[in-house]
Amino acid sequence: MFRKILIANRGEIACRIIKTARQLGVSTVAVYSEADRNALHVKLADVAVCIGGAAPKDSYLRGDAIIAAALQTGVEAIHPGYGFLSENPDLVDAVKAAGLVFIGPSADAIRAMGLKDAAKALMEKAGVPVVPGYHGDNQDGAFLAQQAERIGYPVLIKAVAGGGGKGMRRVESAGEFADALRSAKAEAANAFGNDAVLIEKYVAAPRHIEVQVFGDGIDAVHLFERDCSLQRRHQKVIEEAPAPGMTLQMRGAMGSAAVKAAKAIGYSGAGTIEFIVDGSEGLRPDRFWFMEMNTRLQVEHPVTEAVTGLDLVEWQLRVASGERLPLGQDDIRLNGHAFEARLYAEDVDAGFLPSTGRLAHLAFPTNCRADTGVRTGDEISPWYDPMIAKIITHGPTRDIALSKLSRALDEAQVAGTVTNLTFLAALSRHEGFAKGEVDTGLIARDLAALTAKPESRRREMAMAGLAALHAAAIPNDPLAGFSLWAPLEQCVALEEAGEMLEVRLQLTHPDQAQASIEGDVFTAVRRGSGWSLEGQPDAQVVEAEGYHVFSSGHLLSFRLHDPLDRDQSAGPGGDVTLAPMPGLVRAMLVQAGETVEAGQPLCVLEAMKMEHTLKAARAGRVAEVFVSEGTQISAGDPLVQLEPEAVPHG
Ligand code: ADP
Repeated sequence: MFRKILIANRGEIACRIIKTARQLGVSTVAVYSEADRNALHVKLADVAVCIGGAAPKDSYLRGDAIIAAALQTGVEAIHPGYGFLSENPDLVDAVKAAGLVFIGPSADAIRAMGLKDAAKALMEKAGVPVVPGYHGDNQDGAFLAQQAERIGYPVLIKAVAGGGGKGMRRVESAGEFADALRSAKAEAANAFGNDAVLIEKYVAAPRHIEVQVFGDGIDAVHLFERDCSLQRRHQKVIEEAPAPGMTLQMRGAMGSAAVKAAKAIGYSGAGTIEFIVDGSEGLRPDRFWFMEMNTRLQVEHPVTEAVTGLDLVEWQLRVASGERLPLGQDDIRLNGHAFEARLYAEDVDAGFLPSTGRLAHLAFPTNCRADTGVRTGDEISPWYDPMIAKIITHGPTRDIALSKLSRALDEAQVAGTVTNLTFLAALSRHEGFAKGEVDTGLIARDLAALTAKPESRRREMAMAGLAALHAAAIPNDPLAGFSLWAPLEQCVALEEAGEMLEVRLQLTHPDQAQASIEGDVFTAVRRGSGWSLEGQPDAQVVEAEGYHVFSSGHLLSFRLHDPLDRDQSAGPGGDVTLAPMPGLVRAMLVQAGETVEAGQPLCVLEAMKMEHTLKAARAGRVAEVFVSEGTQISAGDPLVQLEPEAVPHG
């Protein structure tokens, strides 16, 4: 086993690798960017080295700086984590040339699987079923349209260098093909510097089922499957193992196809073979096809760890240090069921817009595994993936594991940035999902129900009012809680998202109070150091830069209203579109003098590796455009101003 390794990554995966290394007695070196100076992975590692600026290209994507840090600190091996340079064969070559070990597959194996088209050709040769389609070199538009026709609509256009669903377009009919091809190619060129695409049959009722494989360069085994069908725009949201409805026959067929794929390239280390499955008639061994291989550890590897009881990072370190596979196929057992939900800083109501912010409060329940790279007080910065944590639960049955997931999501507490927590909790209670009826279209189909708002939030307002009253630290005392010398009725003014709310509080008994909000009356009893609403599950109130009320997966945040605050609505009021986050202006779609409709796209912003279209809040005429294509902007920068709305004279 190695004595010291360097982790060329950040966030939760760096922390997760450090944890296993420590258990194995291996010392760790973290690398970090200037933006991550105080990050959790830096704190957890034994030694940390700064490798450059905040932008990934100035730090986590700099192979030379990473290898220099490795040599300087005297490590024997480098673990790449996932993302960043994890599937970059040039790094593998450079690591080897520096006399170090890369904890992962060979450069050749990564190259063989690097491009979707070449990988498909290789798999076809190895006898692994691949999706019917065209994955040749001819990129002529008319020719590709012909191929789409031959394959039969609907088809999927995919960037051969693709990842994360980018450069991918579903095309329903021949009429849409040319446009879809153009936009897929543009996105691919921009994201991967390679605009080549392939065309695939779009599989009906598609399910994404992937098989975890492990090789030691000589032998290979599989560690069963994961179902990652719950996706939004081709990105995984909740993953599970095993796949619902999986049969022994189908698992056998998929497992041996995956092992065949791994052996075909003499694979060493952890890898994933992703298959697309036609689930329209249940799981059938003749209805799964190879999509691609990921030659690294996956984000969702913890569900496999939960159902096998194995530590995949331990296996990676052991195999990379020269050991043979720790277990043979027959010794790997499947136990129970596991789920993983990806908790993101993102604004679900704004179309899942990635968000930033300082985590005023972050806490996870104990009845789950929470893999995270951040703590209370940390920043979700615009530079990196806005994932906050992965919440993983395990149970003897799917039902139990899913109930545990719902509960863990309800009990997780994040304040300071918007998150998808409520959305995940709703998803974990989705009826079809509970029955195991999953496919990649489920979220899009039921989005309205999954993002529905709770009918009333008065209960939470009452809780916040009580907490505010109770808090001792309020200046000038008018709200210093009920006491012998304070009036028995008080009013607390709270502010939520710019709106003022008044909660009237009355002490009816030393241990009982009433909170009323516009006629709705709630009775609260004193319990411990806080108040509980009678007959209702406890909501947790956390005071951290305002009041955050957590109740059954919902969060409402309030500030005490300061009457001295000026009304700020005069500024924006729908006239000015502000940048919701820092980023780069990719396209400015309007110019001064132009008339726009409400909802009309104004400009395209690239932030956090994704494109976001900002739309007009109302109809009007563009008075001024403040930025142009290529401008780097900060959150809150004005982008486009509309002429003020005409005020009718009376
Ligand atoms: P990326 O590498 O960009 O993530 P993948 O090839 O892994 O792209 O595909 C991502 C997702 O797109 C899959 O999980 C699946 O939901 C969907 N998908 C891919 N290929 C097909 C197909 N042929 N038919 C239907 N859906 C597909």
